[in-house]
Amino acid sequence: ASAASLALTLTACGQNSEGGSKEKSGDAKGATIGIAMPTKSSERWINDGNNVVKDLQAKGYKTKLVYGEDDPETQVSQIENLITQGVKGLIIAAIDNKSLNSVLQQAADAHIPVISYDRLILGTKNVDYYASFDNEKVGTLQGTYIVDKLGLDKGAKGPFNIELFAGSNDDNNTKYFFGGAMKVLQPYIDKKQLVVRSGQTRLNQVVTLRWDGTTAQKRMEDILTSSYKSGRVDAVLSPYDGISIGILSALKSDGYGSGSKPLPVITGQDAELASVKSIISGQQTQTVYKDLRKLAEVAATMLDESLKGKKPEVNDTKTYDNGAKVVPAYLLQPVSVDKSNYQKVLVDGGYYTESQLK
Ligand code: BGC
Repeated sequence: ASAASLALTLTACGQNSEGGSKEKSGDAKGATIGIAMPTKSSERWINDGNNVVKDLQAKGYKTKLVYGEDDPETQVSQIENLITQGVKGLIIAAIDNKSLNSVLQQAADAHIPVISYDRLILGTKNVDYYASFDNEKVGTLQGTYIVDKLGLDKGAKGPFNIELFAGSNDDNNTKYFFGGAMKVLQPYIDKKQLVVRSGQTRLNQVVTLRWDGTTAQKRMEDILTSSYKSGRVDAVLSPYDGISIGILSALKSDGYGSGSKPLPVITGQDAELASVKSIISGQQTQTVYKDLRKLAEVAATMLDESLKGKKPEVNDTKTYDNGAKVVPAYLLQPVSVDKSNYQKVLVDGGYYTESQLK
């Protein structure tokens, strides 16, 4: 084995390897990596943090994991602290994608590579790589699911009532999710086969600050009061499981799910445990599963290779222009999950055990 590959192997085993390649690997070995995640209020980010830690440790790194509790300023000062503490690399899932410019300048001055995790960091050239999913596809899967489920693609004419929800406006993913869904839904809205009674169809009318389920619940309650004194909602585009849960609460308080008002078709994202259970029990209809184990592995590998002076593998060099540069990205594929395939995708795929879903 060459010295470099030996060094790699030893690092992967978590052992110390002196000497070896003259690349940056000398600096990388045993180094501490800072991981900044947005919030513990959603299960997905807890899993992300744990997965990234595990993968980096397997590659021989030490880790410092912080959560910003959905407050952009907290996240900025956490990242400043990580830099001061001497981390050699950063993996960041931003809270507010535009708030990190100055702290990432500090990272660049200290020659710290930065991986933008899941959410693209905007407005700075000081982000090296982007690890995420095909975000537009997430929205396409949600929109297509609604169209399929209502039978619009199989000759059903409607009209069906739909209400639209989007994620946080400071998250760059939001416009991709919503845009992907609307590409599918808009033609039916134009033909009046789908009707948005609230009239709220523009992104800025349907966003949900910080993806907050309670905010979405309140908006759904207001819509039900103002626009559904008669008739009912047939479908709700929801971008995220936590938001779907809020929307479902509003619907159930209004009598949906019993008697003559069945619950509408309602989408989601992340395949969080509570929502998968809700799908199994016939409440939420669908979610978009993103294998977070793979995302963590991609991000950890990108950082490891950057530190070793190698070029990480990317599969998209066009889409993610952050305003300062097009950030080279590796995008994974999301999968639509409902009652019919959760077993195969989530249980057989080892994401959840059967007993977790009981
Ligand atoms: C992620 C989604 C998640 C949402 C809310 C987005 O940036 O891509 O997976 O549902 O944030 O946490």
